[in-house]
Amino acid sequence: DLRHVLSPGRIGRLELPHRVVMGAMHLGFEARDDGGAALAAFYAERARGGAGLMVTGGAAVNAEGSGGPDYGVLGDAAFHARLRRVTDRVHEAGGLIALQLFHAGRYARPAPSGPPPVAPSAVYSRFSGREPYAMTAGQVRETVEDFARGAALARDLGFDAVEVMGSEGYLVDQFLSPLTNLRDDEWGGDAVRRARFGVEVTRAVRAAAGEGFPVVFRLTGIDLMDGGTPQEDVLAFARALAGAGADALNVGIGWHESPVPSVQAVVPPGVWTPFAVRVKEAVGDLPVIAGNRVNRLETAEAILAGTPIDLVSMARPFLADADLVAATRQGRPVNVCLACNQACIDNSLTEREVSCMVNPRAGRETLTLVRSVRPRRVAVVGGGPAGLQAARRAALAGHRVELHEAADALGGQFRMARKVPGKADYGETVAYFAAELDSLGVRVHLGHPIGADDLDLLRSYDGVIVASGARPRRVDIPGADLPHVLTYPEAFACPLEGRVAIVGGGGVAVDLAHLLTRGHGPLGEGERFLRRHGLVDGPVPVTVRAEVTLLQRGTRVAERTGRSTRWAVLAELREQGVRIVRGVTYRRITPEGVWVTDQDGTERLVEAETVVVAAGQVTDGTVPALAEAAGVWHRVVGGARDADGLDAVRAFAEGFAAAAEF
Ligand code: SF4
Repeated sequence: DLRHVLSPGRIGRLELPHRVVMGAMHLGFEARDDGGAALAAFYAERARGGAGLMVTGGAAVNAEGSGGPDYGVLGDAAFHARLRRVTDRVHEAGGLIALQLFHAGRYARPAPSGPPPVAPSAVYSRFSGREPYAMTAGQVRETVEDFARGAALARDLGFDAVEVMGSEGYLVDQFLSPLTNLRDDEWGGDAVRRARFGVEVTRAVRAAAGEGFPVVFRLTGIDLMDGGTPQEDVLAFARALAGAGADALNVGIGWHESPVPSVQAVVPPGVWTPFAVRVKEAVGDLPVIAGNRVNRLETAEAILAGTPIDLVSMARPFLADADLVAATRQGRPVNVCLACNQACIDNSLTEREVSCMVNPRAGRETLTLVRSVRPRRVAVVGGGPAGLQAARRAALAGHRVELHEAADALGGQFRMARKVPGKADYGETVAYFAAELDSLGVRVHLGHPIGADDLDLLRSYDGVIVASGARPRRVDIPGADLPHVLTYPEAFACPLEGRVAIVGGGGVAVDLAHLLTRGHGPLGEGERFLRRHGLVDGPVPVTVRAEVTLLQRGTRVAERTGRSTRWAVLAELREQGVRIVRGVTYRRITPEGVWVTDQDGTERLVEAETVVVAAGQVTDGTVPALAEAAGVWHRVVGGARDADGLDAVRAFAEGFAAAAEF
């Protein structure tokens, strides 16, 4: 029942087709010199998928406010032309779009030749690694005017609304917070003066946008910073913004520097709703938008049905599935966002263009899917991420596709991942692709490892995509063949208890440690999360199933895990009491555990009843060699091609690219 979420909404005079707003995402191609082709295609595809009102990634209101060299800056005629193309294409597709007016303040990462970051006060930022200059009062007033000019420009460029970016620790937030606003003039010194910048911006934007033009203000419901803006100041700020002419308040959560995760997979979906509800209660009738870690329309429905919140913002879910709303309306499956951040936020933090792990098409919307005039018979060997993606895309192009999977179920490594706390949605990805393959008529053969007897079978196809994956790396440690030594797939398959030593410190080892230690406590996930981070009072019972020691030769655990996620995952492990021993040399495995030489040269025993080897993967060359021997046209993708540094982003992307070759 999605009655609430699929019913029409409203912001000011703007009628919305439903009550989900696509939240702003910096895409990394805002500054691409292509006349706006990529940007327009990105938003138009989502408009066609029923997204309703979308908010663009931040458009810097002046050069100092640019988040980095890949941001668009208002005042640049080429950027205006790109934006004009965006509004035209979106409107042709039946969508609505708001321009986000953005100023990064001390979070700016300007090009070396660009202007230095500016902020209310010269307070160093861990996020940008820069100490900004304190703005003069004159610069503050000019910046207010820049926001206003941006609003007028948005209206002239055909946007349907503007959103003032006042959350996540950017400039407006920097004025509001006592941590970053140390001024003692009319723009700082007490809560009212710290709030003044955001209020003046809203007033100026309201005036410049003109009567009836919708103005959304995105504020921070709770900044999750030690010594940050108190809740009563947030609520007073919300009331002041309503008084200054905002038509809706969009409630963001957390700062980029906050020690509490706000959008990672470890954050339970919907957990931030109470903070948006507080804002709603403070502003009465003014529409309030809740968001952050809402990855399903069902969660949005629960928020709308159970609280006074008016609208729900979802951002990354529209990367994972541009058709999210239309598919739901039509009863089709949805490709769910996993909150992995691996191809979106982590890319944007490193100035790479954004895409999506489960949907490599995101960010490549200018590619048109051409239905083949000469359908081929295509075999995909392997039903993990690379194979699933390849089979779907080849079938969409009209080819007759058969998928051969050695195991008795689809999913590959995602079947393990879905067991890890916070990663249950990985099972949804597999279910989505299985449903898609089914509706596209792909024949799936399970429990059929391709072997030497299958050369004729391979030859019977016009082409083969080999996505047969990798296998666990074996380690050359004396005793590694003892019966209490398991591979990581074996460990994922059985409920281990007692003392467990994990040989390896990469992403799989960390996932396993998480799985083995996290018991099901008496608290719901949301309540546990809030208590754990001190946002709700009460004890946090820790229910530990196994006593885990992670052993690592290197010194950086989960080295390849993305910047936005690694710290949050390691904090979870610490809480669950996982011991991490870095810089070890393995000596031997005995029935008592693992003998290692540690960093200071001491040989010692890490006691364990079970030892799990999670030391990476190696390419399994069996099926690639068979495809070669069969002499059939083939492409090898994912772990079957190269297991070193394999991640699911690469696997999905390679499957996607290989299918396009037919
Ligand atoms: Fe979601 Fe991961 Fe895709 Fe980002 S990369 S949109 S977090 S599934």
